[in-house]
Amino acid sequence: MLLRSALLALSERRAIGAALDRVRLTRRLVRRFVAGTTADEALGVIAQVNARGLKGAVTYLGENVTTETGATAAAQAYVDLLDAIHARGLDAVPSLKLTHLGLDVSAELCRANVARVAEKGQAVDRLVWIDMEGSDYTERTLNLYSALRRRYPNLACVVQSALRRTPRDIERLLEAGATVRLCKGAYREPPAVAYPDKSDVDRAYTRLTTRLLQAKAEGRSVYPAFATHDDRMQAHARERARALGVAPDGFEIQMLLGIRPELHARLRADGLTVRVLVPYGEDWYGYFMRRLAERPANLAFLLRNLARR
Ligand SMILES: Cc1cc2nc3c(=O)[nH]c(=O)nc-3n(C[C@H](O)[C@H](O)[C@H](O)COP(=O)(O)OP(=O)(O)OC[C@H]3O[C@@H](n4cnc5c(N)ncnc54)[C@H](O)[C@@H]3O)c2cc1C
Repeated sequence: MLLRSALLALSERRAIGAALDRVRLTRRLVRRFVAGTTADEALGVIAQVNARGLKGAVTYLGENVTTETGATAAAQAYVDLLDAIHARGLDAVPSLKLTHLGLDVSAELCRANVARVAEKGQAVDRLVWIDMEGSDYTERTLNLYSALRRRYPNLACVVQSALRRTPRDIERLLEAGATVRLCKGAYREPPAVAYPDKSDVDRAYTRLTTRLLQAKAEGRSVYPAFATHDDRMQAHARERARALGVAPDGFEIQMLLGIRPELHARLRADGLTVRVLVPYGEDWYGYFMRRLAERPANLAFLLRNLARR
């Protein structure tokens, strides 16, 4: 737990990323989780993912942009990505962060940028997923999502089982009708807003999974996506879906590139929809550190490589 907190604290120190980038051996481990630095590399990996019968999602890495120019450029990159996905006939959708599209600059700028991407998504018949960042952004993210979803039903959002507020947020989303990704939550949070114990985060995950599937079974307008590499969470979702009579195409399992890929084929063989999120970009540091924080074995591998130099 202490190690996780320390790594998450380091994930906010970007200067370390610039130093690590100069170490070639680090790049090997980064490449396990990140497709490359260009959109072309990411689309190539998505084509491979699709060839294995899996759906794709793509993130152009970046967060906490502080200028209007940077935020507008990020939105343009997503518009271009959607064009490229459509032109290549890939089964993939973008998954973006609001602070990459300007939420730290102003809510209006961010809303306009997301609307541009959502508009393009509608034009090429693709969902656009809005990731959930640290709890400082939860309310603003859900507000922006609710405001835009009326106009763009192709927008999808994320909630985190680690946060104490999430049961209420899910009810709010169910009222509006939503496409929802449930994840555990990747950020360092104070105990007042998030469960400090992993076992509580896991228990909340199973409860919220059941709630989303119940709503689906009742005919509510919701499409749940369970984003987890935890086979116990996946098994719970599958068992609940079966028991509640939710068809296998009524929900999906989502996973990140490079994490437990051996599960993909097994889930597909059982008729489930599986989506793999493929990140790319120069700004890989925060994302990479969050992946290290989730699994100390990844850190050991990195340290061994650095020591060998
Ligand atoms: C598609 C997708 C989208 C996501 N979007 C968001 C988001 O918008 N906001 C957000 O806060 N979080 C997001 N996350 C991250 C999520 O919140 C968790 O931090 C992450 O998925 C780890 O939790 P877990 O459910 O896999 O379970 P854990 O209990 O952490 O892990 C279960 C098992 O999976 C394996 N595993 C997990 N992580 C790793 C790793 N890094 N390297 C190697 N093995 C690993 C291990 O075998 C581990 O025992 C997303 C995750 C996925 C899969």
